[in-house]
Amino acid sequence: TGPLLTATRLRKTYGPTAALNGAEFTIDSGEIVAVMGPSGSGKSTLLHCLAGIITPEGGTVHYRGHELSAMSDAQRSKLRRGDFGFVFQFGQLVPELTCAENIALPLRLAGTNRKEAESCALEWMARLEVDDVRSKRPGQVSGGQGQRVAVARALAARPRVIFADEPTGALDSLNGERVMELLTTAARETNAAVVLVTHEARVAAYSDREVVVRDGQARDITSA
Ligand code: ADP
Ligand code: ADP
Repeated sequence: TGPLLTATRLRKTYGPTAALNGAEFTIDSGEIVAVMGPSGSGKSTLLHCLAGIITPEGGTVHYRGHELSAMSDAQRSKLRRGDFGFVFQFGQLVPELTCAENIALPLRLAGTNRKEAESCALEWMARLEVDDVRSKRPGQVSGGQGQRVAVARALAARPRVIFADEPTGALDSLNGERVMELLTTAARETNAAVVLVTHEARVAAYSDREVVVRDGQARDITSA
C-alpha cells in the first residue's frame, strides 16, 4: 500500500529566501513524526506543503498515491476538511461559537447531522477533560483549555493525518505535556498519523520518529 504521505525534493522560496531546498518527508498510517529544527529552518513551510495549504515550486507531495498539486482546489480543500486535521499554536477556534460548537463545526461541514455532531463534540470534550467549558466561548477559557478544545476539534472529525504546528507553544510545561499525552493517545486509538512540528525535545519525545529540518532540508535522524 505504501506510505500515507510522502514529499520529495520540495522547493519553496520567498523572494531571495529558500524556505525549502530539497526537503524529503514520509509518514505511514498511525505514525507520529516530530519535525524539529531551529527557528526559520523551514518546518512550518514543510507542514503547509504536506497539507496542501501552499504549493511548492518544485518537488511533489503524494497523499495515498495522489499528487496534491495535480488535484483541483476543490479536491484539495475537500481533503483538508475530510482526511486532515489541524492543531496550531493558537487554537484558531471561531470566537463567535461556543467551544462545543467549534468542535462540532468540522463534522457539520462534513455532512454529519446536528444531533450526532453535538453528541460527538461532547464525547471528545469529556475525553480531553474540558466538558465543563462546553458553553463558553474561546475568549472565556484558559490557554490550556482552548488548546484541548482545538485538539478535540481536530480529532472528532476522525482525520487520517493530524498536522500540529507547535501545539504546545503557548502553554506552560504542565499543560503542554497533558495536551501532548491526550493528543497522542487519541491519535493512536484512531490510527491517525501526526506530523508534529516542534522545537522542544520534551514535545518530540511523544513521537515515534524525529526528522530534523536544517536550511530547508529535512533529514531523518534515525537513519543519519
Ligand atoms: P520554521 O517553521 O522552521 O520557523 P518557516 O517555514 O516558518 O520556518 O520559515 C522558513 C523561512 O522562510 C524563514 O526564513 C522565513 O522567514 C521564511 N518565510 C516563511 N514564510 C514566509 C512568508 N510568508 N513570507 C516571507 N518569508 C517567509
Ligand atoms: P489551565 O490549567 O487549563 O491553564 P487555568 O488554571 O489557567 O487553566 O484556569 C482556571 C480557570 O480560570 C479556567 O476554568 C478558566 O475558565 C479560567 N481562565 C483562565 N484563564 C482565563 C482567561 N484568560 N480568561 C478567562 N478565563 C480564564
